Amino acid sequence: MEKRIKLGISTCLLGENVRYDGGHKLDRFLTDTLGQFVEYVPVCPEVECGLPIPRESMHLEGDPDSPRLVTTRTKQDMTDRMVKWAQKRVAELEDEGLCGFIFKSNSPSSGMERISVYNENGMPVKKGAGIFAEIFMNHFPLLPVEDEGRLHDPELRENFIERIFTLKRWREVLGKKAGRGNVVDFHTKHKLLILSHSPKHYQAMGKLVAQTGDLPLKELYHQYQTLLIKSLELKTTSKKNANVLQHMMGYFKEQLSSDEKQELLEVIDHYRKGYIPLVVPITLISHYVRKYDQPYLKQQVYLNPHPLELQLRNHV
Ligand code: SF4
Repeated sequence: MEKRIKLGISTCLLGENVRYDGGHKLDRFLTDTLGQFVEYVPVCPEVECGLPIPRESMHLEGDPDSPRLVTTRTKQDMTDRMVKWAQKRVAELEDEGLCGFIFKSNSPSSGMERISVYNENGMPVKKGAGIFAEIFMNHFPLLPVEDEGRLHDPELRENFIERIFTLKRWREVLGKKAGRGNVVDFHTKHKLLILSHSPKHYQAMGKLVAQTGDLPLKELYHQYQTLLIKSLELKTTSKKNANVLQHMMGYFKEQLSSDEKQELLEVIDHYRKGYIPLVVPITLISHYVRKYDQPYLKQQVYLNPHPLELQLRNHV
């Protein structure tokens, strides 16, 4: 059976009653939809560092660059306890082979960004990260991370899920015997996906894999992985996708009638203008890829980067 993608997640998002008030923050998309394709590794920093349920609520205060985690009513400082636990926990998580983490938004422990840090006058500045989230992101700087709030945005959702599926495929390459051919093969299949995020990275990665012999294998893998992750962090846009779609259309110059070419150009243009979602031109091109058995495009992950059931391209 195919191994599932492993994702870290804030435990309360799975519906576990671990919050300070004894409640949860169940997110049905994460459990019922994405949950079909991933294996979650739940982490609740506050409970795992030994605090009870229910417990006093906490917030961040002090210097936004180095905030303290303090209980809101009795002002107990939990920072040292949380930091000590978090450093141990991230070291344990190294063995899990995570492809990403989904954090709970707005949490002083688990939130990844724009967490309120209160100054001495009790005024909040939305600048901090939760104590555990910060330590996690520093420990795993290349891992895709998001919070459940941002994942309600269709574009951020599609981007995050594309990144975790790509990272899983890359990890499968890392699991094979090291060889230049494996990197070239991975790159060939991911070319158009990378191009849809960053033409600049596409060029740099093309040059990197074309180098023969002069770069030690370990260095090739390292440089390729960094460029891959950095490229996919850059968001696709309708303009970048339209360029990729037109590039793909070029492979059917000989086969398509002028009517078919006209129709495809119109569909791409309608997508670029935002009248129709990405799934429409992708479906039409996939039809031609199958019909004409186009060998290069057939293997492009761009046409199918994540399960269709997630319907991610119906909304971007
Ligand atoms: S936000 Fe984080 S610390 Fe708070 S209950 Fe959820 S998992 Fe636990």
